[in-house]
Amino acid sequence: MTPERGIGMTSQRTRDRLIVRLKEQGIRSIEVLSAMRELPRHVFVDEALASRAYEDTALPIGQGQTISRPFIVAKMTELLLEGLPKKKVLEVGTGSGYQTAVLSRLVDRVHSVERISPLQNQARERFYSLKLNNIRLKHSDGNWGWPENAPYDGIIVTCAPEQVPKELLNQLAPGGRLVIPVGGTEQSLRVIDRNGHSFEETVLDAVSFVPLLSGQI
Ligand code: SAH
Repeated sequence: MTPERGIGMTSQRTRDRLIVRLKEQGIRSIEVLSAMRELPRHVFVDEALASRAYEDTALPIGQGQTISRPFIVAKMTELLLEGLPKKKVLEVGTGSGYQTAVLSRLVDRVHSVERISPLQNQARERFYSLKLNNIRLKHSDGNWGWPENAPYDGIIVTCAPEQVPKELLNQLAPGGRLVIPVGGTEQSLRVIDRNGHSFEETVLDAVSFVPLLSGQI
């Protein structure tokens, strides 16, 4: 059996229970739910934590970072994909690569930037073993987005800046959407829609993300 299939606490039955919980918490998108049902989240955490991978909780992934809680991954993905189809998406904060992998099942191409090189390398190996080949990675500071491939139909940020980086707004296509947590000790999830040259911002729930830091290591 391949490690992706999983047994016991990582079996399909355990994964299905997580999907039921996500539905109960209000996730409606069939596409998002089935992408998360099919993707083995335990492959994105350390083996010692694999048995906890289908709990609805954030887990450490090393380097002081965390893989986001499944509910928040589902919610942010659902928000990002609402409305117009999103062909090309940018993610800031690859981390374990789980959010990237969920997106890769739902859009044509995912571009993802990460500032910590060892995390990026681990994520790359996971994408390779899961045969997810519509993902492009860059080791850089996501404050600057990834201008070479802009504009993006959607941008998702999985770490929290104090303020929305201007470059990310610039790299959003007309009709595009940015989903981003903003704040310091108090953070809120924001959705920013671009209509031509104007931006419309909606402030959603309180959230708790690792900070968006500058520079790369
Ligand atoms: N989407 C990830 C979340 C990981 S935590 C997952 O599901 O696992 C957030 C990630 O953002 C961390 O890996 C952190 O290193 C990264 N990060 C923080 N500031 C960044 C920046 N300026 N540019 C790129 N990545 C950044």
